[in-house]
Amino acid sequence: MKYTSARGTRDILPDESGVWRKFIKRITEILINFGYEEIQTPIFEQVELFQRAVGDTTDIIEKEMYVFKDKGDRNLALRPEGTASIVRAYLQNMNYFQKRKLNKLFYCGPMFRYERPQTGRYRQFHQIGVEAIGSQSPYLDVETMIMGVQIFTELGLPDVSIAVHSVGCDVCRPVIRERIKSFVESILPNLCEDCKSRFHKNPLRILDCKNHSCQNFFMGMPEMVSALCKECNDHFLSVINCLEENGVNHTVDNHLVRGLDYYTKTVFEIRSNLLGAQNAICGGGRYDNLIHELGGRKTPAFGFAIGLDRLYIVLNELGLTKSVEGLLKFMIIGLGNKGLDQAFSLAIKLRRENIATELFMKDGSINEGLKEALLVKARYAVIIGEDETEGNFFTVKDLRGKKQFKIFSVNELITLDN
Ligand code: AMP
Repeated sequence: MKYTSARGTRDILPDESGVWRKFIKRITEILINFGYEEIQTPIFEQVELFQRAVGDTTDIIEKEMYVFKDKGDRNLALRPEGTASIVRAYLQNMNYFQKRKLNKLFYCGPMFRYERPQTGRYRQFHQIGVEAIGSQSPYLDVETMIMGVQIFTELGLPDVSIAVHSVGCDVCRPVIRERIKSFVESILPNLCEDCKSRFHKNPLRILDCKNHSCQNFFMGMPEMVSALCKECNDHFLSVINCLEENGVNHTVDNHLVRGLDYYTKTVFEIRSNLLGAQNAICGGGRYDNLIHELGGRKTPAFGFAIGLDRLYIVLNELGLTKSVEGLLKFMIIGLGNKGLDQAFSLAIKLRRENIATELFMKDGSINEGLKEALLVKARYAVIIGEDETEGNFFTVKDLRGKKQFKIFSVNELITLDN
């Protein structure tokens, strides 16, 4: 083949796309029920926005970003994640957003990271994400996590669990960093080159290493939560208590730091055992400093992103992606010049009535037309041949019940059961 899709990207063909549409619709309904509204931002932004927001020494920025110059010599990047763009849009449209104490926004679309492709890990992948900007309440953390779990439960995923942790704030992060460093120092010669460089630049990131052999050496790492300052510890305890009081299945994961530097206090992942190594289908947390760091007033916020490609893989394993019902009501099949003309006019009339209709454009064979009608999962085939044009009727074949009957007006067609 001369051209294939770029490595790490793929085509989502109509059958799969139809299932995605159904999932996204359901997820969106749940988000709206929790008070979220949709925002759409560009898929490329200034490189500096991501460098500043995600952190210069993260893998995403150091290794994974798709960076390019446009013809005006601007340094741009395909977005590797959604939060930075939403915060940029929030600050740029302050007149719009400042009226409310809490702005709850969601987005949906492709993200780009130059990662090593494998099952569940792509270079162009899709996220649906939320950002709630303006509250530091631990209730917001828990509400958002519960919303994530509700989404997966309603889509049919059994046994989803939340892994939760706290990465502290500017006050306690240096203490946490030192703890990690003093533990890691003794095992450093055994770790990968990336970890060695992270040790000096950003020790917290060591815990996020994707290398299995490094992960094995992290067993026995001292827990970080005991190094939290009072404010972060109180917040963490409130979150854990609230999860417990509301019966939300969770575990504290002492190694969870997430791959982006903007997080403060709570971080979490929702995981599915069905995914193997890439088991996170949703990740997020609190970012109370990011808005200030990007030039705004100090404003607390919380968000998460769901990986739609991974979600599809899991639901597919569970047999929950069976093709959606046929979307077309009619396949119109015309035979002969007169029949084809009438078929064309009928299709136009039905579509004007917003009835899902397809036209079989090839003249000559009813069987081919019927085969096509079955393939596109139409509910009825309408045949217009010589008998029909002369007798002023349509022959209708019910493709589910297989019965065939005559119909004498367009109105009757319109009112046929779907
Ligand atoms: P993150 O933006 O890294 O917090 O990731 C949020 C979610 O996006 C993860 O839980 C994954 O489900 C998904 N995700 C992240 N990176 C990829 C990737 N390269 N391919 C597919 N899904 C991804």
